[in-house]
Amino acid sequence: MIVMKFGGTSVGSVEAIRQVVEIVEAYRERQLLIVLSAMSKVTDSLRSMAEEASEGREPVAALENLLRRHEETVCALADGDERQRALDECGRLIGELSGILHGITLLRELSPRSADLVSSFGERMSVIVVSAALRSAGMPSTTVDAREYVKTNERHTDAEVDFAETDRLLSEGLLALVSGGRIPVITGFIGSTDEGVTTTLGRGASDYTASLVAGAVKAEEIWIWTDVDGAMTADPRIVSDARVLDEISYLEAAEMSYFGAKVLHPMTMLPAVKQEIPIRIRNTFRPDIDGTVITSRTRPAPQGVKAVTSIDRLCLIMVEGTMLSITPDTHARLFKTTAERKTQVIMITQASSEHDICLLIDEKDSAGTVQALKAEFRHEVAEGSLEEISVQPDLAVVAVVGGGMKGTPGIAARTFGILGEHKINIIAIAQGSSELNISFIVDRNDLQRTVQLVHASFELGGSQDFEHH
Ligand code: ADP
Ligand code: ASP
Ligand code: MG
Repeated sequence: MIVMKFGGTSVGSVEAIRQVVEIVEAYRERQLLIVLSAMSKVTDSLRSMAEEASEGREPVAALENLLRRHEETVCALADGDERQRALDECGRLIGELSGILHGITLLRELSPRSADLVSSFGERMSVIVVSAALRSAGMPSTTVDAREYVKTNERHTDAEVDFAETDRLLSEGLLALVSGGRIPVITGFIGSTDEGVTTTLGRGASDYTASLVAGAVKAEEIWIWTDVDGAMTADPRIVSDARVLDEISYLEAAEMSYFGAKVLHPMTMLPAVKQEIPIRIRNTFRPDIDGTVITSRTRPAPQGVKAVTSIDRLCLIMVEGTMLSITPDTHARLFKTTAERKTQVIMITQASSEHDICLLIDEKDSAGTVQALKAEFRHEVAEGSLEEISVQPDLAVVAVVGGGMKGTPGIAARTFGILGEHKINIIAIAQGSSELNISFIVDRNDLQRTVQLVHASFELGGSQDFEHH
């Protein structure tokens, strides 16, 4: 069995879905389970429709466009009964969505719970379209709503999966379908709570759904079909000569995705690694290329460096104290506060001589986190043992990643040397104890140049075939 996940661009147009149909056809004897994202840009559009509704305006035009895009795609790819059935189902879903948006318009309130419900429609519609296309091409596909199988807690927009329950439900439900000769076409990204309330697993999480499915059915491999040739030495939108990596380890992939390589959701590796299921990243539009394979093995590379990744739009929250005021208790309360808000802390730095602690977080979490910290430490700030809780905005983090960096001297020297030569200021540095990466903070205006310079200085680009040295 192989679990194949197709991303937004891969199901984003009639031509793209034709490619998907060809790929499924070519590998169908291997027993496939298909996981899909919403059509490209649909999740973004659903989010803005919900926002618009919460401001009291019903997003009539956007809803129309959404329906029309799905209908046109169905009409181009399916005929007869299949076409009619898919059109009916899309129409019914749009009707349901319209009712929900109407409710949000009346209430002028958008809870994370409603936002998740609205976001779920993208994947619920894309599976209808693609499944109709597959059936019209003679393949016995069945749509599967992952909300029946993927069980999560109530952390809306970024819900945590109940692995044991999800694993049990997925294997019970899906193995029966596959052994009955069906090709399940499963919604990525979405799940539900025990009470059946719709949740989502975080942006880009269809990859994660694929890996949960693969773990549950004990698939041989997971293939992530996307719009680039594989995991690359850098984001190809930043570095024009970024190169595809033939082979990386789960740890390297996890590190790269954690530090911004959008090509894989960071949680994807977790279910796969447990059963050592290889993950392949492949290009839907160039299916003859092998892409990247991710397993537990690491291949050597010069200096051990494989990739340079980055995350933009971050800020540093700085908690500044006076002598001795930053105690272990301060740390405990700091992290209790961020944990309660579910603020993801990307990096922590502390210089013991400076009596301050800095937390690197997404700029979206900035205002809320500062407010919560000010409330938590109000007495200390009032009596002066903590000076200030402040924010440094407009930052980005860059990570140099590679399994072979461990024990290779000179990587930091080279990285910071090149940035020094180009007068790029480094705001803070961290190195994980795993020594799989060195990450550092720069001004976001320096981000592109920093990634380009570091990528070039380790000679990662171009036609170099360092993996075969
Ligand atoms: P999908 O919709 O198929 O899930 P995504 O947009 O989520 O696709 O991820 C693929 C994109 O990730 C690529 O188009 C590329 O621009 C971006 N990307 C960022 N960093 C990397 C990297 N290191 N290697 C490959 N792609 C990357
Ligand atoms: N459609 C969702 C998103 O845009 C999930 C995914 O594409 O993986 O975030
Ligand atoms: Mg993605």
